Amino acid sequence: MDAVAERENQFDLNADQRAIKEMADAFAADRVAPHALEWDRERRFPDDVIRETGQLGFGGIYIGDDVGGSALGRMEAVLIFEALAAACPAFSSFISIHNMAAWMIDKFGDETQRQRLLPPITAMEQLASYCLTEPGSGSDAAALKTKAVRGAGNGADYTLNGAKQFISGAGSSDVYVVMARTGEDGPKGISTLVVPKDAPGLSFGPLENKMGWHMQPTRQVIFEDCKVPAENLLSGEGAGFRIAMAGLDGGRLNIAACSLGGAQAALTKALAYAADRKAFGQTIDRFQALQFKLADMETDLQASRIFLYAAASRLDRKTPDASKWSAMAKRFVTDACFDIANDALQVHGGYGYLHDYGMEKLVRDLRVHQILEGTNEIMRVIIARHLVGR
Ligand SMILES: Cc1cc2nc3c(=O)[nH]c(=O)nc-3n(C[C@H](O)[C@H](O)[C@H](O)COP(=O)(O)OP(=O)(O)OC[C@H]3O[C@@H](n4cnc5c(N)ncnc54)[C@H](O)[C@@H]3O)c2cc1C
Repeated sequence: MDAVAERENQFDLNADQRAIKEMADAFAADRVAPHALEWDRERRFPDDVIRETGQLGFGGIYIGDDVGGSALGRMEAVLIFEALAAACPAFSSFISIHNMAAWMIDKFGDETQRQRLLPPITAMEQLASYCLTEPGSGSDAAALKTKAVRGAGNGADYTLNGAKQFISGAGSSDVYVVMARTGEDGPKGISTLVVPKDAPGLSFGPLENKMGWHMQPTRQVIFEDCKVPAENLLSGEGAGFRIAMAGLDGGRLNIAACSLGGAQAALTKALAYAADRKAFGQTIDRFQALQFKLADMETDLQASRIFLYAAASRLDRKTPDASKWSAMAKRFVTDACFDIANDALQVHGGYGYLHDYGMEKLVRDLRVHQILEGTNEIMRVIIARHLVGR
């Protein structure tokens, strides 16, 4: 039994799940992998290829089919993000953020909003971004200051002022799911508004020059007396922090899946390289020190996969401990998989440090997964809160 078949058996993937995974694997190998290094080098956002995934149903993986979504579960989403990330973690993670933002509209929008906003998003005719972080508030998201005041246009519009920091897809996305303050300080004063790219008063900062994720833009999103129709408010005023956190439960699994796919690619490359590269008269995979490193990498990779699939299953079943499992899986998998990619680079020696071998990109891309969707320190805060209370 090969490694893939063994994995499927272990988790009892059904025929549909196997077909979805095969479709994602094929798309990743055909449309993403051959270009990933070039996109990274040229800092090119391949929005044509990203939009193509809409035809595969990846624009609304766990969104209702009445609005064009695929109506799949978290387990299927994890399989898709893992497969895409094996070709390019940054490509996969952009699609994961799009899905997180779309799900927030699906879950917390009313029927009119769902029918009006979601079909172009699930079709990937419109790309969506998630806007929570601000220059002065990251981990402490409930301290956000971007203000939304209702009143303009006889109450038909909100006026937004403030800025969001580090927004993935900013400037390229068509729709921004924005958490803004409509009331008191703290989490209860936050609301969620869907802001279209052409909203008057919306602009974007310059491209951030960052360590990895080069193929997707990261910029500030700036609101200067930005007018947003009140009909784009999700779930009423004050629900925004709950919506933002609910989005992140699934987002954390998705980003962990992106780490898993990247680490699998890194280990596969390391095994092939070690079987080929010679030193001291033999291939380097004959050295026990290196074999032990490979053995640890495989063990940590499989532990990550088992943990992640278990967490996805809990979120699918909506178990009461699903948030804790999402946080634990995000912490464990993104840490372990970064180390696997870094070890795989080491196995390549000096060649691992060269761009053309694809290893240094994997390390750079996976590093940020330990920081975003809540840092791994904040994951520990969440897990501990479940264990010992506040
Ligand atoms: C490339 C990239 C893309 C991003 N994309 C998006 C996006 O699309 N949308 C979005 O909203 N945000 C996005 N982010 C923002 C990301 O979610 C934040 O950077 C992250 O939440 C951390 O916030 P911060 O950078 O302000 O760090 P801070 O909150 O200032 O944290 C600094 C350090 O202090 C630690 N720390 C803080 N509080 C505690 C505590 N209570 N206990 C222990 N340690 C603590 C943190 O773990 C961290 O190590 C992105 C970030 C990057 C780098």
